[in-house]
Amino acid sequence: MGSLHLKSIRKAFGTHEVLKGIDLEVKDGEFVIFVGPSGCGKSTLLRVIAGLEDASSGSVQIDGEEMISTPPAKRGIAMVFQSYALYPHLTVKDNMGLGLKQMGAPKAEVEAKVGKASAMLSLEPYLARRPAELSGGQRQRVAIGRAIVREPKLFLFDEPLSNLDAALRVNTRLEIARLHRSLKATMIYVTHDQVEAMTLADKIVVLNAGQIEQIGSPMELYNRPANTFVAGFIGSPQ
Ligand code: ADP
Ligand code: MG
Repeated sequence: MGSLHLKSIRKAFGTHEVLKGIDLEVKDGEFVIFVGPSGCGKSTLLRVIAGLEDASSGSVQIDGEEMISTPPAKRGIAMVFQSYALYPHLTVKDNMGLGLKQMGAPKAEVEAKVGKASAMLSLEPYLARRPAELSGGQRQRVAIGRAIVREPKLFLFDEPLSNLDAALRVNTRLEIARLHRSLKATMIYVTHDQVEAMTLADKIVVLNAGQIEQIGSPMELYNRPANTFVAGFIGSPQ
């Protein structure tokens, strides 16, 4: 379970309209990539889906249920940021378990779920460390682990690999693809990187200035870009 339906999402900051009517359907289990130039509204759209930002108007449905007035913690969504956003004073284990603990889960359940997520991400040797004692790649794996532990219906990734060096980016990308297969969860993923987009996506959404230019599979966008903007972004020779 984890389908998403956005209808006519608009968002303005003061007089600046950042999202100008976004309609999108994401099926349960799909891997959807958002691409588009800096400032086109990708992060704002993720934040609206997560409930971290209120839409000016429109509807966000998850599994057919309206979420627009539902607080972030109750939407069944976990978000992974570029900046990791880990608590520096907590160990890896506590960073991963905190969300569940705050939701009132019993200690044994927190232990079991953190154990399972850390095994999936090969983080077991690092559970007692604090974020400052980890590499960038390890920190991002902890941030991903923290998301998995909460067993969300929907994962949102906002440029999760852009702070990593090239080799780690490849490894972590493969890891995310593997997680998508094993968790069978719905994932929405923002990236600037064409290779990430082409290799991870079931479906790519090309955004420009707060609107969707085109939605399609990587091959559809590559072979049949709707306009020169999409062609330029996906890199098809025209
Ligand atoms: P992207 O992630 O595609 O780079 P963002 O969604 O971060 O774009 O931003 C889209 C536009 O909204 C930008 O012009 C940005 O300056 C503006 N914006 C984002 N957040 C805020 C905010 N909290 N207040 C005012 N303007 C914002
Ligand atoms: Mg952004």
